[in-house]
Amino acid sequence: MQETAERTDYIIVGAGSAGCVLAERLTRNSRHTVTVLEAGGSDSRFWVQVPLGYGRTYYDPAVNWMYDTEADPGLGGRSDYWPRGKVLGGSSSINAMVYIRGQRADFDDWAALGNTGWGWSDVGPVFDSLEGKGNTPDGAPDPDTPTLHVSDVSKRAHPMSRRLLDAAATLGIPFNPDFNGETQEGVGYYHLTTTRNSWRNSAARAFLRPARKRANLRIETQAHAERIVFDGGRAVGISYRQGGKLKRLDATKEVIIATGAIGSPQLLQLSGVGDPTHLKELGIEIVQGNANVGAHLQDHLGVSHYYKANVPTLNDTLGTWPKRIVAGAKYMLTGQGPLGMSVNQTGGFFRTPGSDRPNMQLYCQVLTTTSVTGARPLLMPDPFPAFSLGVSSCRPKSRGYVAIKSPHESVAPAIQPNSFSHEDDMREMIDGMKFLQKLAATPAFRDVIDAPIGDAPTCQTDAEIEADIRAQAGTVFHPSCTCRMSPTTIDGVVDNRLRVHGVRGLRVVDASIFPTVTSGNLNAPSMMVGAKGAEMILEDAVDA
Ligand SMILES: Cc1cc2nc3c(=O)[nH]c(=O)nc-3n(C[C@H](O)[C@H](O)[C@H](O)COP(=O)(O)OP(=O)(O)OC[C@H]3O[C@@H](n4cnc5c(N)ncnc54)[C@H](O)[C@@H]3O)c2cc1C
Repeated sequence: MQETAERTDYIIVGAGSAGCVLAERLTRNSRHTVTVLEAGGSDSRFWVQVPLGYGRTYYDPAVNWMYDTEADPGLGGRSDYWPRGKVLGGSSSINAMVYIRGQRADFDDWAALGNTGWGWSDVGPVFDSLEGKGNTPDGAPDPDTPTLHVSDVSKRAHPMSRRLLDAAATLGIPFNPDFNGETQEGVGYYHLTTTRNSWRNSAARAFLRPARKRANLRIETQAHAERIVFDGGRAVGISYRQGGKLKRLDATKEVIIATGAIGSPQLLQLSGVGDPTHLKELGIEIVQGNANVGAHLQDHLGVSHYYKANVPTLNDTLGTWPKRIVAGAKYMLTGQGPLGMSVNQTGGFFRTPGSDRPNMQLYCQVLTTTSVTGARPLLMPDPFPAFSLGVSSCRPKSRGYVAIKSPHESVAPAIQPNSFSHEDDMREMIDGMKFLQKLAATPAFRDVIDAPIGDAPTCQTDAEIEADIRAQAGTVFHPSCTCRMSPTTIDGVVDNRLRVHGVRGLRVVDASIFPTVTSGNLNAPSMMVGAKGAEMILEDAVDA
């Protein structure tokens, strides 16, 4: 039985990277009441707050949706495992914390597709404001405005990971002190979303937590949105389940969906906004037909080469229980050591032949788990020193989809990445793998490599490399574009103010609205979408 509806001005469904920023920005103005509905629970969990804890949350159903994709023809018919955060902070509470804004040209591409207001000159200041840059006339962060602290770990990176910088220099790839600066190209140290005292700095910790004390913000956890409620062509509320009870919340102003690249198309489709043919087959009443809902899925695929080393790596630091206890104690007492960081410490961006801007991202990880199958226990690494070099493509051209399989909200949707369905993506990845082989052959790495692990690093022909890629490539966790922003419904779901085409009172504000996937990791651009979405919602509230 459904309870009587309660009311709020704005409903935000999903407290992820975008949703947390949105909630904080909307509630700065005490005129509006905002209620956030989050399917997951509190983020006050040790392994969520400890940076390296993502090795544990990776397979923890208490905080993770734990999706499996459909059999992917491009991956030899394999299904891939897709973790997504189901907790306050969403995926920013379980991610690997690498902070990358994206290339300036990515956003100029968005604007060139007709999305006015989303070019670099528009979004650059929004990124700055998230980090507290330029929030006051003298440029210093305003202490009363929640901002995101991002850590420079260059002084704390493991010595083995520093070798990447020398190896890349040998191949003519320059050092880049800041991938979020003028140019993304080059190798260097990743900036991480950790706090000054080395806790995970998720969107929940940076933005939702400081906003929680505001009287106009209400946060409901374990609140799973099942349907958007429409009245005529207007979204007027959300029907959600909490504690076994079906409840309804009405929005006097707007309903905002921020449930991520899987959750947002799923919720729209369940609510009758999607491909009419598909929805009719499932017996769902059509509110607004639009076959683009769930289509255009883009992701970054990664492939790695693994090597046994003849010098210590993080495997040695965390390889046995006594060592893990020492590392844990050091972290708790001083905030120092590997538990307070990501395993992604160095990396960068480079070009393969024919690309006019960096098209591949590089990772050097000095912790490996090759001898463990199944779960991915980052805290229980291989019992020998080893490291990996990995690449992922920045702007793949393949497109997949997300489509509900059932009208029932508890059934996970079909996720079909269609990896390598565009031939350019395989060419680029083969070239990327050859680059890894060149890196491994430089003195900086050659001197410390004991032996390759598996055959991949020694594949010779393109055919061998391609077979290896299809056998081992996997997501690097960046699904996007499933409720794509575009001026028309020919190829889009939301307009440039993130309003869902064809209905009223409904926006989507998260990584699903990306017109094209950005170059690099997606947490920063998802938070930027949250901040920019809030700006537009507040502007429109004034106009209304
Ligand atoms: C393992 C992993 C590692 C990653 N590493 C990095 C990295 O190092 N750097 C980086 O920049 N990015 C990384 N990412 C990607 C990045 O975190 C995401 O792209 C980003 O967080 C997406 O933000 P979002 O707001 O679109 O969605 P999310 O943050 O996923 O938020 C969606 C929220 O909606 C909630 N929700 C979904 N459905 C419902 C419903 N029906 N009702 C109520 N609530 C619902 C979810 O529980 C979740 O809290 C990683 C992701 C993962 C999973």
